[in-house]
Amino acid sequence: MASKPFPVPKGMPSFWQTAPGHLDNHRSSAALPVESDIVIIGAGYSGASLVTHLLDNQGSQKKTILVLEARQLCSGATGRNGGHLKPDVYNLCSSVSDTHGLEAAVEIAEFELQNVEAVKDYVHSSGAQCDFVMTQAVDVQFSERHDAALKARYEKLSMAGIKATQQAAHFHGRDAEIISGVKGAKGAFKYSAGHLWPYKLIHHMFEQALKHSNVNLQTNSPVIAISQHPDSSGRWRLTTPRGDVLAQQVIVATNAYTAALLPEYQDKIIPYRTLCSRIVTPEDKLPPLLVNSYALRFNEWDYDYLIPRVDGSIIVGGARRTYLEHLQQWYGNVDDSKLMDVGRDYFDGYMQRNFRGWENSGAYTDKVWTGVMGYSADRLPRIGKIPGRQNMFIMGGFTGHGMPQIFLAAKGLSRMVSDDTPFSNTGIPRLFEETEARLQSKQNWLLDLHSGLFPASKL
Ligand SMILES: Cc1cc2nc3c(=O)[nH]c(=O)nc-3n(C[C@H](O)[C@H](O)[C@H](O)COP(=O)(O)OP(=O)(O)OC[C@H]3O[C@@H](n4cnc5c(N)ncnc54)[C@H](O)[C@@H]3O)c2cc1C
Repeated sequence: MASKPFPVPKGMPSFWQTAPGHLDNHRSSAALPVESDIVIIGAGYSGASLVTHLLDNQGSQKKTILVLEARQLCSGATGRNGGHLKPDVYNLCSSVSDTHGLEAAVEIAEFELQNVEAVKDYVHSSGAQCDFVMTQAVDVQFSERHDAALKARYEKLSMAGIKATQQAAHFHGRDAEIISGVKGAKGAFKYSAGHLWPYKLIHHMFEQALKHSNVNLQTNSPVIAISQHPDSSGRWRLTTPRGDVLAQQVIVATNAYTAALLPEYQDKIIPYRTLCSRIVTPEDKLPPLLVNSYALRFNEWDYDYLIPRVDGSIIVGGARRTYLEHLQQWYGNVDDSKLMDVGRDYFDGYMQRNFRGWENSGAYTDKVWTGVMGYSADRLPRIGKIPGRQNMFIMGGFTGHGMPQIFLAAKGLSRMVSDDTPFSNTGIPRLFEETEARLQSKQNWLLDLHSGLFPASKL
């Protein structure tokens, strides 16, 4: 793992970035402001949602808000992800129920459902052009054993009366193959989800935010250090190659890259490099109809996810089986400027292999890219006040699943920043709160997973 996992200077372009937004290299002012009331570090989905909600909360006393982005706007995970806005209504919440109790699990499942609704409302009410579509998610299991285990957990939550879980229906055997259209499906869950073009959504949010004179966006302006302590007036000094900024309040929205600035996040938010792709059919052929979004679960740890796009192309991410054994390819690896040595051919013939009706589609891989997720050592996002750092806040560790969490997490956190609302009143699930105990914990489920699967493999 890189000792200081800063973003590399130039990530390879994803499909989403092929229509570059006009804010990619935006700087609201030629010079960096020397001070700001609030500084948000990172301009991905978290940074964009934070600035949106901070502006919504502001009264007549408008605080200055500076957003510092190391590279282009939305060039991190948000600009290279799968575009899947899928609430987890039975899986993560089920294991959380085992470890932390039913109430905590229900909070997460309901929060994710509320997020999908809130994003949908925001897109429609603000006129964001980001190919937002509500659809049905179909999660397919290829292993009978895995399907039975998930079904048992799903039924437990469902029978406990959890409304969010009851939104999903389960299908088994031939029904699963018919309902999913996936060859060899042994079981499937089906429930509502959305998909969208994340990069366009983030551009839209910043376009709206920049109409406010108290917002300043500075791209290509990495923070390279944060002072150890606030000065006598309580302000933090942020160092950039373009000069220093003094900030009354700082929100660290750097996700995978957080440990580069805050050493306490080393092995707490872990950079995890992964692969994503776009599959297309030849121009003279219409692609077979695919209306659902999918997760294809080959076993307990090997899965892919995909969304159909309105232009007939398919975005597919995952390919875990090709790289998971090779720890140095992904664990702590922030190099999204190139493909991994392994896995680049994984998506070739993918639709033909897995989907009925696609055998003669001629579908081929149009683009493959890498992206860096921020995995939390205990699998749960980290949101709230940073222990031991007054007036500094964290929002990250979304563990490859930020799309159905970030919008409302930012709403809650913005209230903590604006008017010191206690975490318990923000609507964010209690287990997402950053705490000293979480930061001190030695848990690292990613390394546990790896050593359990590949005991002989070394870094
Ligand atoms: C390939 C891939 C596929 C994914 N698919 C999905 C999916 O389908 N559904 C889903 O829910 N989630 C998915 N995710 C996860 C999802 O993209 C993330 O949870 C989400 O985008 C996190 O948003 P963020 O704003 O917190 O982080 P990011 O989008 O990574 O933004 C952080 C920003 O901080 C900037 N930054 C970092 N360090 C500094 C610094 N020192 N100074 C200034 N700026 C800095 C970075 O350049 C970056 O722009 C996927 C992720 C990847 C990589």
